[in-house]
Amino acid sequence: MPSDVEIARQFKPRPIAQIALSLGIDEDDLLLYGREIAKVNLRALGRPSAKKGRLVLVSATTPTAAGEGKTTTTIGLGQALAQLGESVCLALREPSLGPCLGMKGGATGGGYSQLLPAERINLHFTGDFHAVTSANNLLSAIIDNHIYHGNELRIDPRQILWRRVMDLNDRSLRHIVVGLGGRGQGPPREGGFDITAASEVMAMLCLAADQQDLRQRLERTLVAYSYEGEPIFAGQLGVTGAMLALLRDALHPNLVQTLEGVPAFVHGGPFANIAHGCNSLAATRMAMHHADWAITEAGFGFDLGAEKFFDIKCRLAGLDPEAVVLVTTARALKMHGGKKKTELLDPDPAALAQGLENLDKHIENVRRFNKQPVVALNRFAGDSDAEIALVAERCARHGVPFAPASHHAEGGRGALELARLVMAAAEGSRPYAPLYDLALPVAEKVRVICREIYGAGDVAFTRQAEKDLRQVERLGYAGLPVCVAKAPSSLSDDPALHGRPRDFEVTVRGVDINAGAGFLVVLTGDILRMPGLPKSPAAERIDLSAEGEILGLE
Ligand code: ADP
Ligand code: MG
Repeated sequence: MPSDVEIARQFKPRPIAQIALSLGIDEDDLLLYGREIAKVNLRALGRPSAKKGRLVLVSATTPTAAGEGKTTTTIGLGQALAQLGESVCLALREPSLGPCLGMKGGATGGGYSQLLPAERINLHFTGDFHAVTSANNLLSAIIDNHIYHGNELRIDPRQILWRRVMDLNDRSLRHIVVGLGGRGQGPPREGGFDITAASEVMAMLCLAADQQDLRQRLERTLVAYSYEGEPIFAGQLGVTGAMLALLRDALHPNLVQTLEGVPAFVHGGPFANIAHGCNSLAATRMAMHHADWAITEAGFGFDLGAEKFFDIKCRLAGLDPEAVVLVTTARALKMHGGKKKTELLDPDPAALAQGLENLDKHIENVRRFNKQPVVALNRFAGDSDAEIALVAERCARHGVPFAPASHHAEGGRGALELARLVMAAAEGSRPYAPLYDLALPVAEKVRVICREIYGAGDVAFTRQAEKDLRQVERLGYAGLPVCVAKAPSSLSDDPALHGRPRDFEVTVRGVDINAGAGFLVVLTGDILRMPGLPKSPAAERIDLSAEGEILGLE
């Protein structure tokens, strides 16, 4: 099979203004970034629409480090629905440079289910990540500047919560000291960098209903404590207007297309292991407003991305997906069955059968939200019929619809059966039930997620976490939903535990208040908000040809 880049070159994208027109979006609402990319102004949401806007959520079983193809399947499913004559639009996350240059690769799908123009989307795109980075770091600079010029707010330099961010993996920046060099160089203090995809500004951008809402979120962001222990908010530092100005264009969703010309809003990119893990609310609403079917992705696995999708995003915005697709792969199931990482592409029905308990748990989890999943097996070239039959049998035993899908090799044609199952599933959809009541004590909300979704026996809170919980109570944030930071490669907080771990204890080591985003970040295990690079990062294989083409970007 040709490489992703070779395949992409066989297709000539249509002008994006035409794609917009096919959605009923007027040129006046477009901000063009060349021929193939446009931002669509949020005011388009205020125009009349006769579309049904039925939302489909795509999530996955616990993935391998490579990803099991949620994005690829979302694209393939969209192309299949379009081939069946349906009106469809996608809503996806935009890529971070961290994984693109580090380990996981880009986020534009693969094979015959890709977004165009892939290199532009993967590298810089419309600059949203840069806008988020700049807005975030402006606030950091202003905090240090405020202290330097007399510190009227009495900000305690040892209690600054707001960290700098950058859209790269760089472990050396996790803990740093700023302001060294003497009197004229600013107050010395400990600080550090997170990756932009983990920043609260990214979360705010993704959850904001509109510009006014984003302004209010920025203002109420908790950034530090004073010497007296009182909270200090971004609004008190006088630059939320400038932050909003930096974010002006970033607030409007980006429109691109798939190889088969299906429109896709690609906007906002919080990670799901350390943030809330779904594309912007604006992009989801745009897709729903302009098509009968809107397909969106949440992940890593359902335990991380989809739980947050339901309990944070749907609850906030009144969304309710009419169908839920669980993507799984033979390679992931074999990993859960105990097979070595280097042997996952060899057929091994026995290992796969062992690993099916991971799928069992995710099916149960979907049902916990009062939804019925459709299971999609994202087919890889080496998958054997015996392996596929085992997954089909297991799904039949659960009474859930199942389709193997070969959209990677065949485009939309390879996902027609999946598309039909999704349409049928949407007919019988019932309203979703949130997992927990917001009125529960915070520790109880965390326990419900850990026990019922991850399958934990119990949850332990470190002394620091208990202290954080008291602070949450004192400041009046106990009613917020919870955003758990957890390893993506396991249902548990231990990345090495595959399959369906049982009776494990989750350790919560801290709780951060994201007042602007509107959730509490619960830190488990060793989860870090600034990833490191592997020994041989993807960056070593990327280049620019003499003709100006990007090479080696997967
Ligand atoms: P996710 O969104 O779940 O993280 P992606 O859709 O980005 O996963 O897929 C992860 C990687 O696997 C991508 O590089 C993609 O091209 C590749 N991939 C996905 N499906 C297949 C398949 N069926 N065969 C081969 N490669 C695939
Ligand atoms: Mg993805």
